[in-house]
Amino acid sequence: MQTQSQTVSCPKCGSTDAKPVTFTWWGGVLGPRLFSLVKCNSCGTEYNGRTGKPNQQNMIIYLVISLVIMFCVCGGLSFLGTMLNQH
Ligand SMILES: [Zn+2]
Repeated sequence: MQTQSQTVSCPKCGSTDAKPVTFTWWGGVLGPRLFSLVKCNSCGTEYNGRTGKPNQQNMIIYLVISLVIMFCVCGGLSFLGTMLNQH
């Protein structure tokens, strides 16, 4: 029985020579870990090391989720603010 390599091949150039990404501008240190993000050493493409899908989709999902969370937090805070101001 053959064990599969941890990293799937690059969706762009097919290389399996990729290293894990530890930090991104869009997800900080948490985003890349959530999506097991790796970066191809041959062409520099960032993709999901487990599924081989391009990073863009994950990035958008992550950004949308962060925005929703931020919106909820800000909404909650302003709601608290108006509540406190009323008294
Ligand atoms: Zn590549």
